[in-house]
Amino acid sequence: MSEALLTDLGARLVTGSLSDEELLADTGTSRPVQILPDANVVKIGGQSLIDRGRAAVFPVIEELVANLPDHKLIIGCGAGTRARHAYSIGLDLGLPTGVLSVLGTFVSSQNARMIHYLVARHGIPFIEPAQFAQLPLYLEERRGVVFFGMPPYTFWQRNPETGMGRIPPHRTDTGVYLIAEVFSSRSMIFIKDERGLYTADPKKDRSATFIPEITVSELKALDLQDVVVERAVLDLMETAEHGRRIQVINGLEPGTITKALNGEQVGTVITSD
Ligand code: ADP
Ligand code: MG
Repeated sequence: MSEALLTDLGARLVTGSLSDEELLADTGTSRPVQILPDANVVKIGGQSLIDRGRAAVFPVIEELVANLPDHKLIIGCGAGTRARHAYSIGLDLGLPTGVLSVLGTFVSSQNARMIHYLVARHGIPFIEPAQFAQLPLYLEERRGVVFFGMPPYTFWQRNPETGMGRIPPHRTDTGVYLIAEVFSSRSMIFIKDERGLYTADPKKDRSATFIPEITVSELKALDLQDVVVERAVLDLMETAEHGRRIQVINGLEPGTITKALNGEQVGTVITSD
């Protein structure tokens, strides 16, 4: 390719080493475009909500649908207890992380299929990663899509840190978060079954106190024994270009989803530093 056709950075990229740290740093000097800045990414929890069945799921769906006239929604689905069961059998059979990741993907896909049929009469499609190119059209036309939350790493899932076993570390919180980051969506809302983040799992520790807002580094410094989102999300937030704010809310409390979509500070807001 003629050097005259290339930017200065382009010429260095074509001829230079992609391990050159100075060159790599220069590829990040401009901000990436915001692809879908007016879309909202919401995740319906697997174990926290979908596994509770009709009593938890129907009101959440109703509230999401009621918000469609005002908010475009990219709806991701968690996996939950069936994935844990699949992981337990897979582990017993000696299967590696990449295969467990395939199993988790199918369970979150099952959940997405179920949620999809509940919103189908509103014209909202279920899409797989291969159909993400059509997502903007669906959002424009129908204002919502449903997808499965597992990032499509499947076999290519990275192993957990040494000593952290074999459960895929990038699960549905992470997959859904990455959509918000890449599309630079207006919001990233995790709909779960607790008010938000506490100093400990409120289901196990009655003295746990609620944390309305916190930064990733403050949260990491607390070194909590358990947290309300996958730790991989917090790691990814450290280097996020756009996904620098997530909100965790209680979908069992009517009206909370609407408040979060309207930008109100309900639940816990976690921000990048
Ligand atoms: P999902 O089904 O959406 O993936 P999870 O069940 O994986 O949700 O995570 C949400 C759960 O995390 C909550 O129901 C709560 O019991 C638990 N949890 C663990 N640690 C905390 C914490 N520090 N603060 C709040 N919830 C926590
Ligand atoms: Mg989870």
